Amino acid sequence: VIAIRDLHKAYGALEVIKGVDIEARRGDVVSLIGSSGSGKSTLLRCANLLEDSQQGEILFKGEPVAWRGKGHDRHPADPKQVLRIRTNLSMVFQQFNLWSHMTILQNVMEAPLTVLKRERGEVEAAARGYLDKVGIGDKCDAYPAQLSGGQQQRAAIARALCMEPEALLFDEPTSALDPELEQEVVKVIKDLAREGRTMLIVTHDMKMARDVSKHVVFLHKGLIEEEGSPDALFGAPKSERLRGFLSSTM
Ligand code: ATP
Ligand code: MG
Repeated sequence: VIAIRDLHKAYGALEVIKGVDIEARRGDVVSLIGSSGSGKSTLLRCANLLEDSQQGEILFKGEPVAWRGKGHDRHPADPKQVLRIRTNLSMVFQQFNLWSHMTILQNVMEAPLTVLKRERGEVEAAARGYLDKVGIGDKCDAYPAQLSGGQQQRAAIARALCMEPEALLFDEPTSALDPELEQEVVKVIKDLAREGRTMLIVTHDMKMARDVSKHVVFLHKGLIEEEGSPDALFGAPKSERLRGFLSSTM
């Protein structure tokens, strides 16, 4: 569904991504791990074109994004392509980012109505279905402030699902949560993995990464230091840096 090839990204003189290749085929769950500042969030943001990059290729369903300009002037050529990719790679953020003045149901319905211009009755039925699925069907009429962090994050996941995306991108979906609330969200992500959803997950939760992933990528300073199956990466890490990282996080 999504492939990143030889991606380079710099903020001014600061090189953040230095040539990274990542691919998620349909149904794959790929986890990105690495220490703070290694470029995990930047990579996700480049993948759905929230950020431009200076070099390399992003392919969505095998089709490369066309770029205009070079180096720091490089940006996607076609706004329609950008919209298509952004609506098909739905992002779930660490800080839920729900609209505080809208009810949970309105939050979930907003983008399908305004961006996809889908029909209201159909969107409402889908939205209620996704809220049920993540276990907060009874919170439709509540406002975000009336929900716990775990419930808010599950609402954010329902909102992402309601766009019927090709893939979900998660950026540390559980790191703003207390441990007991974290588990509610991990359970939802595990259910989605079992259903065969395509997901790219940045996480500090090594247990979840091990449980749900098909492939795990360890980033270090903008480069892939090691990657492989969860059993290989967590069970028999080869790189000294990865061993150090794992012993500091587990
Ligand atoms: P964390 O685990 O703390 O979330 P991360 O791996 O997600 O870290 P990024 O947020 O991708 O790391 O940041 C990678 C590097 O890019 C950091 O050095 C950061 O300071 C820098 N950076 C990120 N966003 C910007 C920006 N908008 N402008 C300038 N530098 C940035
Ligand atoms: Mg980050």
